[in-house]
Amino acid sequence: MIVSIDGPAGSGKSTVADILANKLNFMHFNSGSLYRAVACYLIANNLKMDENVDLLSKLDLKVEFIDGVQHVFANGTDFTSHLRDNEVSSASSYVSKFKPIRQLVDDCQRKFVSNNNVVIEGRDIGSFVFPNAEFKFYLDCSVEVRAERRLKEEQAKGTNIDIEEIKSQIIERDKRDKERPIAPLVVPKNATIINST
Ligand code: C5P
Repeated sequence: MIVSIDGPAGSGKSTVADILANKLNFMHFNSGSLYRAVACYLIANNLKMDENVDLLSKLDLKVEFIDGVQHVFANGTDFTSHLRDNEVSSASSYVSKFKPIRQLVDDCQRKFVSNNNVVIEGRDIGSFVFPNAEFKFYLDCSVEVRAERRLKEEQAKGTNIDIEEIKSQIIERDKRDKERPIAPLVVPKNATIINST
């Protein structure tokens, strides 16, 4: 069974998906982590995205759950501890606009989901990747509240960043995700919309 949760960055998808997956005894699959792993690989190897689409689209992308935590490997390297780095967030939304990269991530997701019951979160899950998911949700939230949440997370990590910078990063990421030509962020057909502001 597939439960999809889509929505913009910081709308609370991961928190809700985690709780729901625990209650249902399903796997919590975070699809954004796959785009983040591609971005990590790019940064770690000092590659320019536009010049390396071919190479990156052939990455060996693997997801494994170790002690209940989703790990993502790209060409054998476990990038899990770097997935949430600040520079990775904006690089991942850039990487995700390329069709071959979306194909790579989609294949990896489909393979995983064919063997498991999942709560899967992302931007295009209920709309493009699994339009026949049994239950679909779309979380939405104001930019201001999302920025405040992110600020708290960054402060807890000891990052020195101000709220205006976070706000502009969120607005830019929303714009990229909603305006890209392939699988943009939309409310999936038949999804239940929840405003988490
Ligand atoms: O969800 P998260 O913020 O970790 O996702 C990182 C980036 O990956 C998003 O900004 C988005 O561009 C991309 N993404 C996507 N489709 C998904 C999940 C994430 O394009 N299903």
